[in-house]
Order: sequence, then structure tokens, then C-alpha cells
Amino acid sequence: MPTSSKKKAAAQTFRAQQKSPHIRSSGTTPSAPRGMHDILPPDQKYWEYVLEIAMQVMRGWDFQRLDTPMIEEAGLFIRSVGAESDIVTKELFELKSRGGSPAYVLRAEGTAPIVRAFIEHGLRSWPKPIKLCYAGPFFRYDRPQAGRYRQFHQFGMEVFGSAAPVTDAQLMYVQHVLLRQLGLEEYVFLLNTLGDQADRTAYIRALKEHYRRHVRKLCRDCKARLKTNPLRVLDCKEEKCQQVAYTAPRLLDTVSDEAQAHFTQVRTLLDELKVPYEIAPGLVRGLDYYVRTVWEVVPRRPGDPPTGSQTSLGAGGRYDHLVKALGGKDVPAAGGAFGIERLIDAIRREGIDLQLTDTPSVFVAQLGAQAKVGALRVMRLLQEAQIRFAESIDRDGIQPQLKLAERLNVAWVVVVGQKEVIDGTVILRNAESGMQEVVRQEDLVTELRRRLNVPQG
Ligand code: AMP
Repeated sequence: MPTSSKKKAAAQTFRAQQKSPHIRSSGTTPSAPRGMHDILPPDQKYWEYVLEIAMQVMRGWDFQRLDTPMIEEAGLFIRSVGAESDIVTKELFELKSRGGSPAYVLRAEGTAPIVRAFIEHGLRSWPKPIKLCYAGPFFRYDRPQAGRYRQFHQFGMEVFGSAAPVTDAQLMYVQHVLLRQLGLEEYVFLLNTLGDQADRTAYIRALKEHYRRHVRKLCRDCKARLKTNPLRVLDCKEEKCQQVAYTAPRLLDTVSDEAQAHFTQVRTLLDELKVPYEIAPGLVRGLDYYVRTVWEVVPRRPGDPPTGSQTSLGAGGRYDHLVKALGGKDVPAAGGAFGIERLIDAIRREGIDLQLTDTPSVFVAQLGAQAKVGALRVMRLLQEAQIRFAESIDRDGIQPQLKLAERLNVAWVVVVGQKEVIDGTVILRNAESGMQEVVRQEDLVTELRRRLNVPQG
């Protein structure tokens, strides 16, 4: 940048800072925020693959898409996920709002916003069960590490209006079908029941009793959790805490007969549907709104030992009291979600061939000023026929264009010259042999499809 432009840019930054004193530029070359990632062109095929199959499966099972804003009032997560949860105490991205109130945060998970929208728009009156789905970015101020980001992406499903065990089984079955459709084979559902709220209160008392006897063996975090969020001590990853958890009373054994019967039915259905699952008595999930069935999907085969650092692909559970807790009528509900980054990791790990050709097989070259307009028209034809092409419309000479076509490894070059524009034709050149022939423009798509071995549209 010349010095005068640099001075101008600095003056502009200074003026912007004067207007918004809390906005400062560090002055160094900007980079993506910590724990957040650009998704570069070579990785896009994985995203398209996962999202396309996810939407196809969810829509195919009659889940209707509902999109919510990226930000919500902080109170929504405090009242749903829980004031003492990790998400609320440590992980919310708070926004500085101009008036100061209400306090807004970047959305940290998908269920609470969907429930908020469900109540706000009176969706309760729709024919039941009301099946909704979503996909998009979520934000948690987590410590970034492998598979754990500050901006990550989820898609999920929620079912409102059914308290039946078959709904829990259906959600897991759809998740299982989806994983299979993605080509994944190494996964297992970890399943537990949290019982009902009264069961949980009694259980927490028993749990505290057990942990008080072993308090010296616990890590510092768990000592604090025992006071604020005792269930979470059960899924602490520290070896010494896991040993104490091993001898702790099991929620599974203490829940009411109704909750027990519900859980048995879910398991019977999963057995019949051949969904791979294991019972995980220590699985409590970190969100307050769950009751009865909860699950996580982890990337290992059934029966394989847990690897400790294992991060889940997805999760879900029943949340019968959340609609009411957020000010709606009492509507039972359940839902489940997957993390897209984690699914993509699993797809790479399992070496799944996406069978997507993401590179263009045709190059459109042009020669002469008139031909540029003709070439743009040809590009439109190809795009409408879904034939992927590369081009370099700003170049003039044919040789640099042919060189580029060679570098891109295309099979065919479509050459548009002045004469061809007048005649309504193009030259079709075999990139490998250099053999050329003249083709009428209206036949170009058919001819290319034939040569590329793709079905005629
Ligand atoms: P949760 O909302 O915590 O139940 O998480 C549901 C799914 O979202 C998990 O199974 C992960 O696949 C994904 N997920 C949650 N937190 C993160 C994160 N910080 N980074 C990447 N993926 C995440």
C-alpha cells in the first residue's frame, strides 16, 4: 500500500474507534478467532455430503425445518440448560448489547431455541406429533482441542407431543439410519435413563452421600461440582474420579417403576430395530432439561473398550418438562442432534469414498472480444445442465487457456471463437488427443453428456 493510502486507512480505523470506543484493531494481520475455522474449498465436499444426506433423511422422515436466530436472550439457556451447567457457567458467548438489557448470547445449543420458537408461534396447535429439524452453527466458549471448537455445527431433530417410548426409539433409529446412509459403521449408542424429576432428587441425595465418603479422592473440579451440579461428577474423565464413580449407586436402579418400564420398552424396540447400543449407567448429559431416556453416539464398535478421550458424534434425550418450564403448556418432547465436524472426522477416519467428483471435467475457452459474450452464454448452458466447468474469461490468448485446462486435468475443452459465435457453433476439443470437431451450440450439452458418460437430463 502506498504511504498516503496507509495514512488514510489508519485515519479511518482511528475514526471508527472514536465512534465505538470498545472496538479496537490489534494492528496485526487478522486471523480466524480462536477455536473457529474457515471451511476451505477442498473440504466443502464433506460438508455438502453430510448436509445433503442429513436433510434428505430428516425431511424424508417428515421433520420440518425451523431456523432460529444465531443469538438468543441469555435467560433462555439459563432456564433450560441450567444455571449450574457448564454451558451456562463457562461457555456462553455474551454479547455487549447497546441498551445493556436484555443480555444476549450466541446460541449454545439447538433444543432451547426450537422450544422457544415452538411456544412463541403456537406450534402446539399443529397435528401431533410435531416434528421439527434444524441445522447451523452453534457457539461455546470451550477450551479448543481436537474435535472441540468454539464455533461448531449441528443438525438435529425434535419431536413434540409424544411421551411414548417408541418416539425415543424412533429418534435413535433415524439417527442410526442416517449414520448408515453416510457410510459409517463404527459407532454405538450409549443409553441411560435419568428417571423423572422426583427420582433424580432422591438419587442426588444418595449420590452426595456416596461422594462425601470419598471426597478426598476427587479432583478439584469435582469437589466443586458436588455442591453445584452433583450428577456431573459421574462423567468426569479423571481416572481417580472414575474410580469413585464406579462404586456409586446407579440411577438406573433407583428410578420409578414407570420410568423403568419406559426404559425397558425403549430397549426392546432398539433390539428389534437392531440399533447398536450399550447401557451406560454413568451417562447423565450436561443439560438440566433431560428426563428419562438420554443417549450419546460414540465412534467405536459395540463391545470395543472406551478410549477415554472419546468425543461423541451425537446425542439426544427426552425433555418432557421443558416446554412448560419456558412458559408454554405441558407438552412432552424428545430430540437428538449430531455435530457435523465430528461426523466429518468419522467419515475421514473410516475412509469413506464420497463418490463425488468435485472437479470440473470441461474447460470453456474463448478467442476474441465478441467470443467472450458467446462463452458466457455457453457457461450458462453448462451450469443449467449441471456440467461442472472451469474457465478464465479474462484471458485473451488461446495458449494460456489451453495450458490452464491441462493443469486442471479436464477431459474436454469447449472453444468459442468469433466465427463460432456467428455460426451458432462451438469447437469441442479432446484435451488429451487435441482432436477437434465442430458442434452446434444446441447439441453441446447432449454431446458432452454422451462423452462424459453422464445420463442425458
Ligand atoms: P450437546 O449439545 O453437548 O449434546 O452436543 C451434541 C453434539 O454436538 C455432540 O455429540 C458433538 O457432536 C457436537 N458438539 C458439541 N460441542 C461441540 C464442540 N465444542 N465442538 C464440536 N462439536 C461439538
